[in-house]
Amino acid sequence: METTRDDVLVNGVWHPVGRSIAVENPATTLTVGSGAAADHTHVDMAVRAARTALPGWSQTTPAERADLIEALVEALRSHRDELVDLTIAEVGAPVSVARPWHVDVSLDILSSAASHARSFEFEQRHGDVTLLRRPVGVAGLITPWNYPLYQLAAKIGSALAAGCTVVHKPSELTPLSAYLFAEATVEAGLPVGVFNLVPGTGPDVGGPLAAHEGVDLMSFTGSTVVGSTVAAAAVSHLARVSLELGGKSASIVCDDADLANAVRWTVDSCMLNSGQTCSAWTRLLVPQSRLAEAVDIAAQRADEMVVGDPTETATELGPLVSSLQLQRVTDKVEQAVQRGARVATSATTPLPNTGHFLRPVVLADVSVDDPASREEIFGPVLVVHGYRDDEHAIEIANNTEYGLAGAVWSADPARAAGIAARLDTGQVFINEAEFSVESPFGGWKHSGFGREFGLEGLLEFTELTAVHH
Ligand code: NAD
Repeated sequence: METTRDDVLVNGVWHPVGRSIAVENPATTLTVGSGAAADHTHVDMAVRAARTALPGWSQTTPAERADLIEALVEALRSHRDELVDLTIAEVGAPVSVARPWHVDVSLDILSSAASHARSFEFEQRHGDVTLLRRPVGVAGLITPWNYPLYQLAAKIGSALAAGCTVVHKPSELTPLSAYLFAEATVEAGLPVGVFNLVPGTGPDVGGPLAAHEGVDLMSFTGSTVVGSTVAAAAVSHLARVSLELGGKSASIVCDDADLANAVRWTVDSCMLNSGQTCSAWTRLLVPQSRLAEAVDIAAQRADEMVVGDPTETATELGPLVSSLQLQRVTDKVEQAVQRGARVATSATTPLPNTGHFLRPVVLADVSVDDPASREEIFGPVLVVHGYRDDEHAIEIANNTEYGLAGAVWSADPARAAGIAARLDTGQVFINEAEFSVESPFGGWKHSGFGREFGLEGLLEFTELTAVHH
């Protein structure tokens, strides 16, 4: 695929915009392509195209939609290596993360959406009432830069399965995989106007999309601050809203757990994608009596992580996405240190000469009320706290505005489940439980509302009509 782009996909046709935004490879700082710098006129064209396509698409059978989603999966699969390369180039994710956690999981998410389209009963009889689950209409999808393909798959799979037509605005930092995705929708034979791509900045494209009266549902993934403005704009014309926002998730290690194993898993979760993962476990909570030991294990695991060229298979952490993100993260670490935090990590292996690289950081001696413990940092930074008892651990875990994910480690399944049930968060992993694309994903509190994946993800894109007999 040509990566120097300045066009939008509207109604199945690529329209040049004439203005573009350069895409930087965060490892080399070289320009690797560009995306369109579209504006509200292109948003308007795309929403109109999606509205025009809606009657036809919404009347297709779920099986027909499932067939087309599966054709899209196959089209994407045929470009798998290219998608991995684009993800490495635009996000800086190492190949060991880009392949499973950006590309392959996205194909799984789309396949799952197709199977829900096939199995879900869109028409259900309850006594004298038939409940019709119908597509909500035109969906506006705004996605961030941290997992560009995955975030798009999480939205579009369910949107298409439900029978919605869509307008997608990717992050201006990472439009390249979105272009390839859009080309795959054409290759797969999706009817024209069902998927429309409008790359550009938040103010020029995202704002007008959220405010557009032709959009029936806004599905946004990104920061809490932008999410609340998107929600306000959408609600002002009574569009429905689904928000996937930030996180500050806690990993609670009980006194009967294997401390070393739990700490190392937590560090790995925290540092995945260079710490730029909304659901990362960025707070490690351990029994007070074992705090010093846990900090040492965490620092040791963090120090041994391989930071460097994302194209190398041994690399565990690539760069942060931009110089701005690197600056934000290092500022937050420095401010925490000024307030009394101690940096427990001490690796001195050299970092590459170019690129926005940062070694993983483990912070100790941080108060549970400190911003470093309560606010999202969105970089490779883990905060470690000691707690008195399970009650205290739950209190610390919930001591944040966020509520996206979490973990509990215990040899006693009932104890772990009891703690999990009291965490005010969208999902909790017990011990080494695996991530599943079938499980609803989403947040409490400032982590947003609405769910993606699985049946709940599909329902987000439907409206109800109750027919009384
Ligand atoms: P961001 O909020 O800056 O941008 C997200 C998207 O919104 C981008 O496409 C951006 O161009 C657009 N945007 C920016 N300003 C806008 C405006 N005024 N109106 C409409 N759209 C606008 O977030 P980011 O920096 O790209 O991503 C990082 C954030 O995303 C982190 O806070 C992270 O936790 C969050 N995130 C959450 C999830 C989740 O599922 N909960 C997943 C990934 C990332």
